[in-house]
Amino acid sequence: MRPGSSGPDARDGTRPDAPDVDVLVVGAGITGIYQLYRAREAGFSVQLLEAGGGVGGTWFWNRYPGARFDSESYTYGYLFSRPLFDEWEWQEHFAAQPETERYLNHVVDRFDLRRHMRFDAPVASAGFDEPAAAWTVTVTDGSMYRARFVVAATGVLSVPFVPDIPGRDEFRGEQLHTGRWPAEPVDLTGRRVAVIGTGSSGVQLVPAIADEVGSLTVYQRTANWCTPLNNRPITADEQAQLRADFEAIRETLNTSAHGFLHEAHDRGAFADSDEERHAFYERMWASPGFSKLTSNYADLLFDEAANDTWCEFLAAKIRSIVRDPGTAEKLIPKDHRFGEHRPPFVTGYYETFNAPNVSLVDTRQTPIVRVTRRGIETTDGEREFDVIVWATGFDFGTGALLRLGVRGRGGLALDEYWADGPKTFLGVQTAGFPNFFFPGGPHAAAGNNPRYNGDQVDFVTDAMVYARDHGFDAIEPDPAAEDAWTAMVDRNAARKPSFGTSSYYFGTNVPGKPRKYLLNAAGRPKLFEMIAEIVASDYQSFILTRTPDVESETASR
Ligand SMILES: Cc1cc2nc3c(=O)[nH]c(=O)nc-3n(C[C@H](O)[C@H](O)[C@H](O)COP(=O)(O)OP(=O)(O)OC[C@H]3O[C@@H](n4cnc5c(N)ncnc54)[C@H](O)[C@@H]3O)c2cc1C
Repeated sequence: MRPGSSGPDARDGTRPDAPDVDVLVVGAGITGIYQLYRAREAGFSVQLLEAGGGVGGTWFWNRYPGARFDSESYTYGYLFSRPLFDEWEWQEHFAAQPETERYLNHVVDRFDLRRHMRFDAPVASAGFDEPAAAWTVTVTDGSMYRARFVVAATGVLSVPFVPDIPGRDEFRGEQLHTGRWPAEPVDLTGRRVAVIGTGSSGVQLVPAIADEVGSLTVYQRTANWCTPLNNRPITADEQAQLRADFEAIRETLNTSAHGFLHEAHDRGAFADSDEERHAFYERMWASPGFSKLTSNYADLLFDEAANDTWCEFLAAKIRSIVRDPGTAEKLIPKDHRFGEHRPPFVTGYYETFNAPNVSLVDTRQTPIVRVTRRGIETTDGEREFDVIVWATGFDFGTGALLRLGVRGRGGLALDEYWADGPKTFLGVQTAGFPNFFFPGGPHAAAGNNPRYNGDQVDFVTDAMVYARDHGFDAIEPDPAAEDAWTAMVDRNAARKPSFGTSSYYFGTNVPGKPRKYLLNAAGRPKLFEMIAEIVASDYQSFILTRTPDVESETASR
């Protein structure tokens, strides 16, 4: 930190450009908190900067009614500390936002991490100083930090997206985004509310507010295959069982492809008779969360005919729940199969459309023309509202990283280097940006986020330790390794099971963004394989350098 700003004291007074801190973490979500903990435990001096006013990341910002996990609570929480696992009793199988925010605050205090954190500190820029092999990180208030390593744990769903619909500024009522829901309660009682968007957030919000509002109009562009979350409280017996099974749970979560406890099914859809399949689908419908994807028929995502049988079952469910046949048809996806989009999980979503105060507008049939002073105009006419809620998602994958103002070697800007989409190695680093890591960023894996983000944090920590302990000042991926990883991500995105029609996974919900796959379909198994190879080969896919200017300094540590 430069003179005149608050923060850690300069650790090494021998050079004016020496880093103030070894590891600077950006973002206090579940990834950044774990990174801060791991880096400090590894003996680094640490500092964390967070744009928001508190701990939690996703679970700090998404306070909208109905916001909750689609991952089982105890599979989402940290596994690095048995005492932590034992002492925190999740109340529900799928915790709501307030409980998760409390949990993450508990972790921060339990491990005494808060003193390393600075809130309301949005990072505006980060530039690599080559001679010093250090990053200069600037916060929007002008304060500066010098760090050997920067870990941007800035999240893939942390920059809310609002479509550029004309007239938004003219609306006289209140506008909210689910991803920036105010901390103080929003009173929707008796008000005329529009919800735009029926992705994972919108379909959680709609049933949660329907009873309270005067009227609720849901604007849907894309119908999604929503299935019941089947949430319930965790009983005392289940709490005891979770504790008894900790080692087995940890082993499964740390090694499984998607980071869930769900057991995969070994049969194909057509190995069963029609009656058996129907009975199986009823069990799936009643099963918790993502198991409809992870424990469904083995060929669900590989055989279109198999997927069709599940979609037909779901369509029949929707028709049986929603009383108005026209509304039911609008709610049934016609443009994608189950699993091609991120499947949302719901509690009473379809039932909500039977309420007299709730209506659905299909914006494919009657597109939104503009927001007016009084409401929303579609090609069908104008409706008046008191509140418009934008449940329109995020600038997924690269949104936060590209807004960090990152400049690597030779002043190369990250947004220029990634102009055609992200290029990464292991989804943690990019060539030409030494000592800059982004666990939980694009190209990571897919599934239960904290599990594979945690794998990445472990790898990043080990890489920083390796560099330090071997006297290297800088570590960055070999461009050839980066090319191979990025090509692998792109190749797999074109294969089955593909998420081919999902604009979200390819970033094309944001106009002007290159169509590039932002997850990594090869997932954790590939990540594990590569990490094992890298460690065994002494970081062969990385370029490790000693900077002459800082050699004596490094050696003196
Ligand atoms: C409503 C919702 C529900 C979800 N449910 C699940 C689920 O059930 N299971 C699952 O696996 N995943 C879920 N996710 C995905 C979720 O984002 C991840 O599980 C996880 O929270 C990611 O953690 P993170 O720490 O990587 O990022 P985040 O939690 O997004 O944290 C990133 C932090 O970085 C900060 N930041 C960004 N840019 C800057 C900057 N320039 N300066 C300073 N700070 C900055 C942000 O303010 C934010 O606090 C959900 C996401 C949403 C939005």
